[in-house]
Amino acid sequence: MSAAAPIVTVQNLHKQFGEHHAVQGISFTISCGQVLGFIGANGAGKTTTMRLMATLDTPTEGSINVCGFDVIQFPRQVRDKIGWMPDSYGRYALTTVADYLDFYTRAYGYRRAERMARLEDVMAFTDLALLARQDLDTLSKGQAQRVCLARMLLHDPEVLIMDEPAAGLDPKARVEFKHLVRLLAADGKAIFISSHILSELEDMCDTILFIDQGKIAHHGSTEVLKRQDDTTTTVHIKVAADPERLREWIELSPDITRIESTTHGCRASLTSALPGDVAAILRRMIQDGLPVVDFHQEEQKLEDAFIAMLEKLETSS
Ligand code: ATP
Repeated sequence: MSAAAPIVTVQNLHKQFGEHHAVQGISFTISCGQVLGFIGANGAGKTTTMRLMATLDTPTEGSINVCGFDVIQFPRQVRDKIGWMPDSYGRYALTTVADYLDFYTRAYGYRRAERMARLEDVMAFTDLALLARQDLDTLSKGQAQRVCLARMLLHDPEVLIMDEPAAGLDPKARVEFKHLVRLLAADGKAIFISSHILSELEDMCDTILFIDQGKIAHHGSTEVLKRQDDTTTTVHIKVAADPERLREWIELSPDITRIESTTHGCRASLTSALPGDVAAILRRMIQDGLPVVDFHQEEQKLEDAFIAMLEKLETSS
């Protein structure tokens, strides 16, 4: 997690819609240069939280401070500091990319040379120069998403709030998007980004905030989330010999169980995830004459960790 002072502070945030308590006392901070991923199932309260931060709704209780400004008392100042990218944006027929962005640049108060420079910078960063004269309603999903990103960046906000920005993008567009997010973070932006695509967040975000039914279920690194289930470990083993020898060896070992055979070995589950115990099993294999050419631990996928955490929460509630 970034050691820089927080630029966004959310404290004990609540939002109630009638009887429904959509957000139930969540608190977190975001610092400059930090990318905080926001994960939760459908209806968990992600969009509600982001809309409260973007001054589009008011909390029932709690506070949000952005760059020293409270969202309730100083919404105008907060809007100057944040860039908001909703999960969908209105498409305008017969409007070109350049006209659309120019409209917003003017709305932000940029004039003449400064306006042109701002437009040029943002369009270059989001790789839109070649699409400048294209109509908005002819853009692909990935191109339209870059236009949304460009619009969000026009007034050079310090805090970026993006609701499901990677949804519907093809793999190439996702990689490009991830790259832009990392560049923006390196430029010092504080970034808050929601997604259902957990593996997408894994290498884009420094920290994950996971909410379930309006409450924080996990706040920390993705590594910690993946290590929640650290009682067993799965290994992939390959041998330069008949895999049958490996199978027989495993059958005689109480601390390792074969899960499935692979072409030159198997996937197996170890009863301990302690590094010393894992090393001892590998040592025994070699001492017993198995020509091991590959022995590596399977990483628990973020998706698996997420599902395991949901199951844990369901059984404990
Ligand atoms: P998704 O991933 O499906 O977009 P989410 O995590 O963004 O879900 P929210 O949109 O924040 O979830 O909704 C949280 C809960 O609050 C849901 O049960 C939703 O029905 C409810 N909710 C959201 N906005 C309103 C509203 N304006 N009036 C009444 N209920 C609402």
